[in-house]
Amino acid sequence: MAKYALITGASRGIGRACAIELAKQGLNIIINYYSRDDLAEDVKNTVVEYGVVAELLKFDVSDSAQIEAAIENWELTHPDDYIDVLVNNAGIRRDSLLIFMQNQQWHEVLNTTLNGFFYLTRRLLKNMMTKRHGRIINMASLSGIKGLPGQVNYSAAKAAIIGATKALAQEVAPRKVTVNAIAPGFIETDMTGDLPVNELKKMIPMARFGRPEEVASLVGFLSSDNAAYITGEVISINGGLYT
Ligand code: NAP
Repeated sequence: MAKYALITGASRGIGRACAIELAKQGLNIIINYYSRDDLAEDVKNTVVEYGVVAELLKFDVSDSAQIEAAIENWELTHPDDYIDVLVNNAGIRRDSLLIFMQNQQWHEVLNTTLNGFFYLTRRLLKNMMTKRHGRIINMASLSGIKGLPGQVNYSAAKAAIIGATKALAQEVAPRKVTVNAIAPGFIETDMTGDLPVNELKKMIPMARFGRPEEVASLVGFLSSDNAAYITGEVISINGGLYT
C-alpha cells in the first residue's frame, strides 16, 4: 500500500513548496490546482526528481461535486493506496473594505477557504479513520488571528478554519489523526505580489517576508511521525510580526 499526500493549490507558492518538501520525505504527491495546468505540470516534473510518484488532480475546492468526482476516480484507479496527508492550502484574496465589499467577494473567499476545507476533509477523513493514521494541515493566516483591515472576508475565513481545526482535532484524535493549522505572516508568493513590500518589511521584526520553503518545512514536520502528539494547534510563522 502506497501513501500519498494531497496538497490543494499546489501549482504555485506555498502549496508548490509543500509538494516538494513532502516528496523529499518520500511521500507520493497529488498536486491539486484550479487553472494553471502549465505550472502544475512543472511542479510534477520537479517532484518526480525525488523518486516518488506525482499526479495532477485538477478540481475547484469550492465545488463539492468536483471533489466527489475527482476523489472517487482517484480511489478507483488506486485500490491499494490511500491519502494519509491532506494539506488544505488553496486560498484566494478578494480584498475590500467591508463597506464596499460585494457579495461575490465575500462568498468566493469563504467558499474557497472554508467550504473547500469542509468538502475535501470530510471526503478523505473516512479513510484516515479506518486506517487509524492521518495528517490534516490547514493553511490559516495571521489575518485569522489578528484580523487585517481590508480583509474582513479573508480574516473571517481563516479564523473559521482555526476553529474548525481545533474542533476536528478533538473528534479524530482517538483514531490517531492529527489536525493542525499554520498561520503564516507575509510570505513571498503571487498572493502578496501587489503589496507594498518595503513598507510592510518595516513592521516585521525579521525585516523580510518569509519564503514558501520556510512554511513548507513546518508542513513537513507536522506530517511526520515526530509530530504524532501535536494536534489542534495553530502555529504562527511570521518573522515575529505578531505573537
Ligand atoms: P498563491 O501563490 O496565490 O497560490 C494559490 C494556489 O491556490 C494556486 O495553486 C491556485 O491554483 C490555488 N487555488 C486557488 N483557488 C483554488 C480553487 N478554488 N481550487 C483549487 N485550487 C485553487 O497563494 P499562496 O500565497 O501560496 O497561498 C497559499 C495559502 O497560504 C492560501 O491559503 C493563503 O491564504 C495562505 N497564506 C498565504 C500568505 C502569503 O503571504 N502568501 C500568508 C498567509 C496565508 P492555480 O495556480 O491553478 O490558480
